[in-house]
Amino acid sequence: MKIIVSEKCGFCFGVEHAIELAEEMLAQRQDVYCLGSIIHNKQVVDRLAQRGLKVVESLSEIPPTPPNTPQDAIPTVLIRSHGCHPDTMAEIARRGLRLADATCILVKRAQKLVRELHEQGYQVVVIGDPDHPEVQGAVGYAPGVTVVADEADLPRLPAGGKLAVISQTTHSPADFSRLVGLIAQRGFDELRVINTICRETARRQDAAVALCGRVDVMFVLGGRNSANTGELAQLCRRQGVTTHLLESSGDFDPAMVSGAKTIGVTAGASTPEWIIRDFVERLRGATKGRG
Ligand code: SF4
Repeated sequence: MKIIVSEKCGFCFGVEHAIELAEEMLAQRQDVYCLGSIIHNKQVVDRLAQRGLKVVESLSEIPPTPPNTPQDAIPTVLIRSHGCHPDTMAEIARRGLRLADATCILVKRAQKLVRELHEQGYQVVVIGDPDHPEVQGAVGYAPGVTVVADEADLPRLPAGGKLAVISQTTHSPADFSRLVGLIAQRGFDELRVINTICRETARRQDAAVALCGRVDVMFVLGGRNSANTGELAQLCRRQGVTTHLLESSGDFDPAMVSGAKTIGVTAGASTPEWIIRDFVERLRGATKGRG
């Protein structure tokens, strides 16, 4: 039995930075509130919660700071790698809270493009999931941004004029080009397309596809509500390989590898190294003695 871990998997630099920032502030005993779950990984979220990280869905959940509170006792708001709406940034400043901004540099680039393209007279389109926090934040950087998740959204596009299209950073490149192709058929005076897809995601996807050709079963480790983990699993399934999406080694069942000679393991960008290591150990234990 052979186990191959994908050459590129696990934490991306954006997520790594957000976790490090949270750990740094918690080590300084700061009162830290993360706006939304720091990453789509329950195990990591639980670990940080044990160390004192509080998760809030809105700034109104943070207790008000009494006047004359010393600077180091003022709560800190941590913005996760997905970024947030500019109104939220303004509200943090208005409430006098401290800010720890872990917005990924690639998400910041997309946000800046939304604003700049609008200023240049383009009607901005973001291809992505309208319910994803990254998209919900990015649309705030210009008025009238249209989010396109699939072809059903195309009739909502403005007719004619100058259109600029960018993407959610974790969107699949294939779907991005498909939707751009459909948009192009609608006949605009000018169509500008800027690829804002994160290559970290593409590298994980390419490595996973290459690995699918060498294994009998694939395991994709990551949170069930993580967009990039879900896409990774779908991609592996499309290669015709039996694929299991697991949150951790606790979800593993030895029946999943019965008859398999070679097993592949990959993980989404929000899956820490220790979950991958733990799973491989579990797999080794379960398949010990098999050819
Ligand atoms: S997946 Fe890419 S864009 Fe998203 S946080 Fe990681 S590095 Fe940044």
